Amino acid sequence: MSEKLSFVNPTANSPWGTYLSQVDRVVPYLGPLARWVETLKRPKRALIVDVPIEMDDGTIAHFEGYRVQHNMSRGPGKGGVRFHPDVTLEEVMALSAWMTIKTAAVNLPYGGAKGGIRVDPKKLSLQELEKVTRRYTSEIGIIIGPHTDIPAPDVNTNAQIMAWMMDTYSMNVGGTATGVVTGKPLHLGGSLGRVKATGRGVFVTGREAARRLGMDLRGARIAVQGFGNVGSVAAELFAEAGAKIVAVQDHTGTIVNPNGLDLAKLVPISRTDGVVGFKAGGDIVPNEDFWNAACDILIPAALEGQITAERAQKTTAKLVLEGANGPTVPVADDILAERGVLVVPDVICNAGGVTVSYFEWVQDFSSFFWDEDEINVRLDRIMMNALNQIWDTADKHKISLRTATYAVACERILTARQERGLYP
Ligand code: GLU
Repeated sequence: MSEKLSFVNPTANSPWGTYLSQVDRVVPYLGPLARWVETLKRPKRALIVDVPIEMDDGTIAHFEGYRVQHNMSRGPGKGGVRFHPDVTLEEVMALSAWMTIKTAAVNLPYGGAKGGIRVDPKKLSLQELEKVTRRYTSEIGIIIGPHTDIPAPDVNTNAQIMAWMMDTYSMNVGGTATGVVTGKPLHLGGSLGRVKATGRGVFVTGREAARRLGMDLRGARIAVQGFGNVGSVAAELFAEAGAKIVAVQDHTGTIVNPNGLDLAKLVPISRTDGVVGFKAGGDIVPNEDFWNAACDILIPAALEGQITAERAQKTTAKLVLEGANGPTVPVADDILAERGVLVVPDVICNAGGVTVSYFEWVQDFSSFFWDEDEINVRLDRIMMNALNQIWDTADKHKISLRTATYAVACERILTARQERGLYP
């Protein structure tokens, strides 16, 4: 944050700054709706909460938590909760704004929101993790709800954490409110297909982009940064389609194998020991070398700001699939475009997760649950329809897929804003 705390002044190179410049790029394509664009440049509401817990050793620890509701013009806020030592308000603002764009891009009846706690969950016991989750949920309970703002998993959060959030909110309101969060365990109103949905969406959009580029997935070399719920699932689906996963990076390091890593072995080992645990299956290299790995497709599926100008110059990829939110800084976006590298932007590429979250929420309200085939067929259809529309917009205006996604999404958001009108 700048010295004077403000929604409008981003810190240099921050995710919020990246988001604002992405919005600036779409303004020429908004026509008369451009008059409303300022609404996207500031969050509707941001809550900062103190999360105190008693640690196992008897000391009292305080963590800082956030919930930002960026925009609710088209429906309730929607977006994940992130537990990470680097979480800041400004980061959560950007993540909430990307949710606004994302839900509109795939035409879900939601706005955008996001939450986070500045904590390293790997340093907490299970009991401490539960306490942090419950106290945070209780603190943000004044603004979340099944019809107002619906959290979900994000970096370092999972179905168990969603179960605790659902329970805490439910205890506070005196009923079982399954629709208050998505990404829950299956027998607590969770949906089949939710865990794999984000990775699956990356695959579906990536397969279509490869087809349009004339790139054969059989034998295509893929580098994946981030090997959690998004990166590992996308890698498995691409490998099933005949691609070779030649480089993988996670928080433990980087492993490469030009002949393709054996995912059947790498995935289970990575869950306990990280990707470097699979030394037998490839070479461990310095992290920066990940960006030099000879590949056709690059999948950043970790955190923001990873594709810098320098890394954009280096990569040999012809296609970038943004599994993460905000992985490419604007100057790198320009370099990739100049170099003829196609970027499928986060706000469509990783929208599979929130799409199946939407299915989960609908199933919770109707108390009628769909089978996995139905989920996947509907997911693929929504993703493909959205991508095709975005592609047509990009072709029509000769703009990047990112700016085209913003054009499609912002038209929906700002039309809703205009139709609702300003109150009072
Ligand atoms: N955290 C995911 C995202 O960034 C999913 C959010 C949701 O399901 O609400 O899209």
